[in-house]
Amino acid sequence: MIEQNIHSNTREARCKAAVRTGETHPLIDVRNVVKIYNSLAGSVTALQGIDLQVYAGEFLVVTGKSGSGKTTLVNMVTGLDRSTSGEIWVAGSPLHNFSMEKAAKLRGKTMGVVFQSFELLPTLTVLQNVMLPMDFARRYSLREQRQRAMQLLEQVDIAEHARKLPTALSGGQQQRLAVARAMANDPTILVADEPTGSLDSATATAVIDLFVDLVRQGRTILLVTHDKDVAKRGSRTVTLADGEVIGVEEREGTHA
Ligand code: ADP
Ligand code: MG
Repeated sequence: MIEQNIHSNTREARCKAAVRTGETHPLIDVRNVVKIYNSLAGSVTALQGIDLQVYAGEFLVVTGKSGSGKTTLVNMVTGLDRSTSGEIWVAGSPLHNFSMEKAAKLRGKTMGVVFQSFELLPTLTVLQNVMLPMDFARRYSLREQRQRAMQLLEQVDIAEHARKLPTALSGGQQQRLAVARAMANDPTILVADEPTGSLDSATATAVIDLFVDLVRQGRTILLVTHDKDVAKRGSRTVTLADGEVIGVEEREGTHA
């Protein structure tokens, strides 16, 4: 009974988000996706028929132990790697049919990706790191790029470090910079793979607080983590084991 209430509340929240964004279909729709890695050492089935939908306005967390297939799933939905079979629809487009080049274009248009290892460019300033993806997308003028990058740095609370090199920042600040950069082109969805993996627990909490804030502002987030405390913060948590979904837990809203 309680569970039913939680479900209907979450569905209601989702419907509201759908009305707000005009989006009734899932933003990401993973259908029966299988991924087999073939190497000299043999073949590994990393995903064995995954079905997963990400809806507008939700904070979806995918969790599971090391080796359960989380990063593989991220690589599939971002189009960084190809699935062996199955379908992946992103914002209504059939990513599974796309060339790597076309996939990169769709990714650039719809997604911001945050990696565990930050992947910041060490020779560019903090500000330039955020401006770079905007430069690639050619959506904003140079002046707008600068303004927008400053706003994003303010949002993640590191604007005072704009002119420094990334190496001058702490781990938590670098991760927040990676989040700002992922938001550079105003993506429909933010995808983060273990964004707190290399942070101490207080810093990790601050980074997750930032994600919760972004969801409250209407962003959609797909976050992958092996950390059980982080997993609890999602509005929905999907658990993987051996490349299969073994559990789904829904909560009302995001947890601060
Ligand atoms: P997680 O992110 O949950 O730790 P991964 O998606 O990285 O899990 O890995 C899932 C499984 O696929 C593991 O057994 C891993 O060893 C295997 N795997 C991942 N990447 C490759 C690869 N490039 N080649 C071969 N096996 C891989
Ligand atoms: Mg991983």
